[in-house]
Amino acid sequence: MTHPETNNFADLHLHTFFSDGTFSPEELAARGSQAGLMAMALTDHDTIEGCARMAAACQGLAIEFIVGTELTAEFDGREVHLLGFFLDPQNEKLLAEIKKFQDVRQSRILEMVSRLNKVNVPLRAETVFELANCRSPGRPHVGRAMVQEGFCASLDEAFERFLKKGRVAWVPKHKISAINAIELIHQAGGLAVLAHPGLNHCDEIIPSLVEQGLDGIECFHTKHNPSTSQHYLKMAAHLNVLVSGGSDCHGYSKNKPLIGGVKLPGVYFEKLKQAHQERESHRGASVEHSS
Ligand code: AMP
Ligand code: FE
Ligand code: FE
Ligand code: ZN
Repeated sequence: MTHPETNNFADLHLHTFFSDGTFSPEELAARGSQAGLMAMALTDHDTIEGCARMAAACQGLAIEFIVGTELTAEFDGREVHLLGFFLDPQNEKLLAEIKKFQDVRQSRILEMVSRLNKVNVPLRAETVFELANCRSPGRPHVGRAMVQEGFCASLDEAFERFLKKGRVAWVPKHKISAINAIELIHQAGGLAVLAHPGLNHCDEIIPSLVEQGLDGIECFHTKHNPSTSQHYLKMAAHLNVLVSGGSDCHGYSKNKPLIGGVKLPGVYFEKLKQAHQERESHRGASVEHSS
């Protein structure tokens, strides 16, 4: 017999090969099931393309699935990542914005390859696009293509020598303003949550983001140590916003996938769900009211 309390965990930050992860949605769902997760959100960068397959895979495994994405945004000159949860996958404005992000990502690959070519790394853009095989290609795909073609020994080396911020092939990414990202997520029926604040060093702007409608903070994340998580839990309580958490698994990382390493306690997941349901019922009521 299974004990529900032992399985009462969620992972709300996950990537597949529809962006820069390496697992298929089916493989990710199966690994989530093995890790004992009761709920999972797919948050691929700038896409929700993998969500239909992930939803089907989760359904077969009796895991609750949340449609999500991770948007790169900017506020007051700082880069922040915003997670959208419970998105309507048919929302036209969301789909149109995502398409713009993806177009910019594709041109960015061409620019990165051209910069590499200028420093005598003869990588071809087609190699990157073939390897990425998705609409949301990014730096990890360029790095993997460089390893595949023998220009670097490892992905770490590719980032260290060429791809990280300030290096020769680094091209800034299109960023939506955080205010517009929150609005985009809300109008698509979603909740907007600040991803891994411990990585972005953006504490001073969090109260302003909350004023702009930010719904929650990702307190639990692979790269947050216990005291970082505590710090953001306190901040979330103080600002009266929701708490989220996830592994940010992109596939294998140092011989082991990160999924299962960060477990969001079910009580926080229930609060996110409740907030979403309340928002939806208000939306329903105001639509009825205006019609
Ligand atoms: P992009 O969105 O194209 O700028 O790429 C950012 C992604 O690159 C992140 O989401 C990570 O998946 C990955 N990444 C960032 N830094 C590194 C690194 N040093 N080594 C490997 N992957 C990285
Ligand atoms: Fe990523
Ligand atoms: Fe991120
Ligand atoms: Zn992520």
